[in-house]
Amino acid sequence: MIYWFRQDLRTRDLPGLHAAAQTGKPVIPVYILDEDAPGNWRAGGASRWWLHHSLEALKSELGKLGGSLHIYKGSTVAALKTIVKETGADTIYCSQQFEPWSRALEQSVHEYFSTEGLTVKRFPGTLLHQPESISTQAGQPFKVYTPFWRACNAAQPPAAPLPQPEDAIWFSEALTSAPLNELELLPTSPDWAATWHDYWTPGELGANNRARYFLAGPAEHYGEGRDYAAKAYTSKLSAHLHHGEISVRTVWHMAEAQKNETPEAASSIEKFQSELGWREFCYHLLVHFPDIPEKPFKAPFSSFPWASNESALDAWQRGQTGYPIVDAGMRELWQTGFMHNRVRMVVASFLTKHLLLHWRDGEDWFWDTLVDADLASNACSWQWVCGSGSDAAPYFRIFNPIAQGEKFDKEGEYVRRWVPEIAALPDKYLHKPWETPPLLLQEAGITLGETYPLPIVDHKIARESALAAYATIKGQA
Ligand code: FAD
Repeated sequence: MIYWFRQDLRTRDLPGLHAAAQTGKPVIPVYILDEDAPGNWRAGGASRWWLHHSLEALKSELGKLGGSLHIYKGSTVAALKTIVKETGADTIYCSQQFEPWSRALEQSVHEYFSTEGLTVKRFPGTLLHQPESISTQAGQPFKVYTPFWRACNAAQPPAAPLPQPEDAIWFSEALTSAPLNELELLPTSPDWAATWHDYWTPGELGANNRARYFLAGPAEHYGEGRDYAAKAYTSKLSAHLHHGEISVRTVWHMAEAQKNETPEAASSIEKFQSELGWREFCYHLLVHFPDIPEKPFKAPFSSFPWASNESALDAWQRGQTGYPIVDAGMRELWQTGFMHNRVRMVVASFLTKHLLLHWRDGEDWFWDTLVDADLASNACSWQWVCGSGSDAAPYFRIFNPIAQGEKFDKEGEYVRRWVPEIAALPDKYLHKPWETPPLLLQEAGITLGETYPLPIVDHKIARESALAAYATIKGQA
């Protein structure tokens, strides 16, 4: 029995692995890095860093159970053929995944090996509800989040998580697989991720520890605290969930249990569960509208007059726009592989509305730099912010980066953490340094345009330009 690991790098609550173990036949755990399969969506740098450490953790976790992970690089079908030849395996187990290329890959594995007389068995494991089980009363896909999540909540609750396959019999002979380092997933020169272990513990244990820590403490403040950029009130589970190190239904059940234990925190925890619902909704959209990562959901946005401006894009990517909350977010992303959700919305609005740059420029940058880069959530979120998505924020809702900073980073802790060169400014001017009286700037050691940029666009003018650009498609959008 081959268990083909994909974005499900865990041993607990993995229905396919559980089923393979229950056959009583030796299980061969396999991971294949097939870089051609995703085409343009090859994993970005930050995801590759995470994947390396997640595979290392999976090797160790399987080792504790008595198994070994066999790693391959290259074509999936070719690697599986080699394994079948060397082991005589007759069945391939895996979890269903929903990226268009993952589905195509599953299909080609299924087609090839069926003709060879093997069985390919695909199991759920990525979502709370299988996409085909949730639809409108008319049997159509949902396009609006609220009724979608209501339908999820009205469905059968997710089944209880499965335990680790402790009784599995593992295949014990050596195979011609590759050492993990041969996948070349880690950055070398420069090693921009040198400090990332201070922020992250990729792998199943890290995921479970984080979920436990979050639900036992910060979750209580999630409802009122999740929007405050400097506060640690969100779970930071996204990269663990993306790589499948913990199943979403495990997290959901842990949340249910915590609600019973601390009823006073129940509404906050329900809010958290509803964010798991957004993840679910993004996958629902991706399954039914698979070109969402590349095309606007609202067709009129195809003729939106996006600008082309390399230097503005560069300033945004490097956190040098002159708007402190935007720069803080972009630097948090570069330095840690993560950005707080509120700030993601602000920087995405800034890119698509203040700079009028295409949402795909932002989507691509996030894809390369986020440890939680996820095709469904990234694409849907970018389209949501810029107004072209299903159930999106309207385009004319243009975040004011000064007001957003003043509201969600009132004491300036977040900006001071990531933009230290303006840390000495008084709170009053921290989110609009250009309004600081010259004497105060001098005292703070800041020369605008030299030690920190002047704003690359004027908020009011940019807002008007954005609305004018939107007016060109407004009648159709
Ligand atoms: P929590 O607030 O603790 O939420 C719990 C979980 O719910 C998250 O781990 C995540 O899996 C899910 N979730 C929360 N908010 C959303 C959301 N709006 N959409 C979908 N799922 C959500 N999330 C990704 O996982 N990958 C991405 O590539 C991604 N790109 C984004 C791009 C933009 C422009 C924006 C505005 C948001 C993006 N998000 C993405 C959604 C969200 O910002 C992150 O999921 C969240 O910040 C992760 O932090 P957390 O785990 O502490 O979240």
